[in-house]
Amino acid sequence: MNKVMQNTAPSAAPRFWAHRLHGALMPDYNRRATAYWWLTVTIGVGVLAQSTRVLSALPSLALAEIVAGVVAAMLAGLFAFRVPRSKNSFTAGEIFIFLLLLLHGPAAATLAAAGEGLVGSWRTSKRWTSRIVSPATAGIAMFLAGSLLEAVMALLQPFGFASAAVLLVATTCCALLYFLVNTALITAVPYVKRGKWPTIAEMFASFGWVGICVVGSAPVACLLYVAWQHAGVGVLLVSVPMAAMLLVTLHYNFRQQQANEAMRKSHVEAIEREAELGARHVRELEASERRFHSAFTHASIGMALVSPSGRVLQVNSALRGLIGLGSYESIAQRPFSDFVEADGMAELNGHLAQLNAAQVDSFEVELRLRHGEGEEVWAAVHGSFISQVETAAPSLILQVQGVTARRQAEARLQHIAFHDALTLLPNRRRFQDDLAAALIRSQAQPGRHCSLMFLDFDRFKRINDSFGHAIGDEFLVAVARRISHNVRSNDVVARLGGDEFAILTDDGGDDRYAVTLAERLLEVLRQPFRIAGNDIVTSASIGITFSGLGYVTPSEMLRDADTAMYKAKANGKARYALFDGVLHTEMSHRLRLERDLRGALETGQLSLAYQPIFDLGSRRITGFEALARWQHPEFGAISPISFVAIAEDAGLAFALTDFVLRAACAQLREWQLRDDAFVELDMHVNLSPNDLAHPNLVARVSAALDGALIRPHHLTLEVTEDALMRHLDTALAPLAELRRRGMGVSVDNFGTGYSSLRRLATLPVTSLKIDRSFVGDVQRHTDDVSLLHALVMLASGLGKAVIAEGIESAVQLEQLRRVGCRSGQGNHLARPLAAERIDRVLEAIVVAGRDMPKPRDVCVGLLLH
Ligand code: C2E
Ligand code: CA
Ligand code: CA
Repeated sequence: MNKVMQNTAPSAAPRFWAHRLHGALMPDYNRRATAYWWLTVTIGVGVLAQSTRVLSALPSLALAEIVAGVVAAMLAGLFAFRVPRSKNSFTAGEIFIFLLLLLHGPAAATLAAAGEGLVGSWRTSKRWTSRIVSPATAGIAMFLAGSLLEAVMALLQPFGFASAAVLLVATTCCALLYFLVNTALITAVPYVKRGKWPTIAEMFASFGWVGICVVGSAPVACLLYVAWQHAGVGVLLVSVPMAAMLLVTLHYNFRQQQANEAMRKSHVEAIEREAELGARHVRELEASERRFHSAFTHASIGMALVSPSGRVLQVNSALRGLIGLGSYESIAQRPFSDFVEADGMAELNGHLAQLNAAQVDSFEVELRLRHGEGEEVWAAVHGSFISQVETAAPSLILQVQGVTARRQAEARLQHIAFHDALTLLPNRRRFQDDLAAALIRSQAQPGRHCSLMFLDFDRFKRINDSFGHAIGDEFLVAVARRISHNVRSNDVVARLGGDEFAILTDDGGDDRYAVTLAERLLEVLRQPFRIAGNDIVTSASIGITFSGLGYVTPSEMLRDADTAMYKAKANGKARYALFDGVLHTEMSHRLRLERDLRGALETGQLSLAYQPIFDLGSRRITGFEALARWQHPEFGAISPISFVAIAEDAGLAFALTDFVLRAACAQLREWQLRDDAFVELDMHVNLSPNDLAHPNLVARVSAALDGALIRPHHLTLEVTEDALMRHLDTALAPLAELRRRGMGVSVDNFGTGYSSLRRLATLPVTSLKIDRSFVGDVQRHTDDVSLLHALVMLASGLGKAVIAEGIESAVQLEQLRRVGCRSGQGNHLARPLAAERIDRVLEAIVVAGRDMPKPRDVCVGLLLH
């Protein structure tokens, strides 16, 4: 191992330096090229050394001449003549080289050739490899050619062939050889690098001109040499400046040619550039047109090219598809308006006119297109001018995008917003718009009237409650259909909500139409509706008002039609009523009361009166009926008959009932606690008809009872016979529950509601309150006494108690006692009294009871009058 180290270590340094030198000088040279280069340079150096050695033996004059020749050759090498239309150049240095060859032999010429090669390569190449190898090859070539010439001439001399002509030919041949060898050695380098040898043709292709110049230099040098031999050095001194002038002239001539050439070239280039630009412009135009055509043809959006006169030049397939045009159908030269529905033409023309007048650059419009197969097609059309070719008149390009789905969705939304989902009739909002428009029309044309009909069903709620909402809905749809069938096509029928319908009729000037229509509708709506196997019989109440009364807003007119409808209901339902001014004030009064009642309920302005109920036999007070009282701050006492009805219409009935229940129960509790004699007193509270349909009736009543700590059997709820019969289906269950919990249920105003007596037996009621009309009559008609008697008998047979109301006289009282009626109330016994009055009565009873335990009831009777 040591041995190896010792062997390799000394050679490492030179190899390293060789490597670095190679990397710096010839990084692109392969091994062969490198070897060739080194070989050439080494031989060149050897040749130069040999030449130098030969010359060193010469006398100094000859040496001076040689140095001058070498310097001249090198200086000439600085001025190169660029060969026109080629990359090559030559110098006049060759003349001096050949002159030196003839004068002093190959050694001098070799040095001169190497010097000139050095200058030339210095000038033309920046690579050190070239700068070094060029003088070497020139030296080698000259050494070879020069030595050969010398040898040939030496051979010819003894035979007398050394004439000037022979010398001229031999020198020219020598120049040719010099050129060939030099060229071969130089051009070999790149070929060795690539490993491929050049052909002769390739060699001369690049050096042809230079070769001629080099070879041409030889006879010139030979002539100068002969002239010098014959005429001495003077010839040389004269001819050299002449030759120099010639060369300078040539040089400038070449330069001039070069400049001309450059100018011509730049001119040609400019023209070519121009031509290329023009061609490119045309190509770009063509490409742009192709792109446009392709974009036009294959666009997914519909497109049409339209001439300024509105005629279609071209449409793409997307547009054909949009408007249902077969690909075979010709559209050329047809007006674009052929494809647009008439309703959009005015707007489209307006936009086109603006575009033509250059008021706008483009426009956008949505319109309906005419479809080949009659489908509805909505499109967003964008139009602008386009010039395809600069010279042609601009045509209009229309981009047409189908927006049918969006428009249809919008229309659906619009329909939903303005129509009732159930009956598909216009809704209140839409109806108000139509009414507003009709009012404006009637204001604009004095003779022209319209009328408004407000229609409400008399028993819709009952239909809903008894048959269920699904059938209720079907019923409304059937009603809508029946109404629509019976009006004229230009009458507007709308559903305002619930079972309320409105009809707007444009009467021209004849108000009688509305009345006739109302009569007809009442008649057709009275006919049974057959729905899901049920025959539903109902009736409607209609209120009518006329634009002739001078309405300004739709809501005023609707309000008055509504008012008239209430009048129709008040007049007995199933009829129509016309609105008039008196009714208007009545209604506004009613509205005022409604508002005030609401406030009264909220602020506790209502109070209760209590009418005692007596045991008619003992004349003892068994309980009280609570009766609501309203003292209006402006209008004074208002009858419960009116305000209870108002409360029902205004949705205040529940609040009223709750108020009465709470106050009455609390009051009863107070009285019961006053004395042992009063613990069995009970309280009657009137329910309003709406309460019977209220889902939480039982809970509300129980809450009032519990709140006052009253036992259930001390509370009796009075329900009018009429209300009970109307709400029978919904009322049965809650009433049964109230009964189950121990409360009493009394049928108020019994005898006026035509309820079947057989039915009564099954109803969850504890007592019947005989209507005061029967009681009042007993005095006058003996028939009524027997009727009363029958009623009492029947009721007791059914296990129901009987309470007579409205007992106004002793005679009546006596009659009632006689027919077996054991309970009653009336002004004869006691009027409805404020709680404080009852307080005092009870107090008196307590005092009387302490003094004289019996009979208390007599005292009561005295105190109450
Ligand atoms: P109703 O339930 O039949 O009440 C009895 C009515 O007869 C009371 O009239 C009472 O003052 C009156 N009256 C009492 N004795 C006589 C008499 O001897 N002769 C005559 N002619 N009338 C007598 P009021 O207080 O004006 O009540 C009228 C109606 O108002 C009541 O009739 C009842 O239906 C309703 N009402 C009163 N208070 C309430 C209430 O708190 N809630 C509900 N829902 N309705 C009530
Ligand atoms: Ca009552
Ligand atoms: Ca009554």
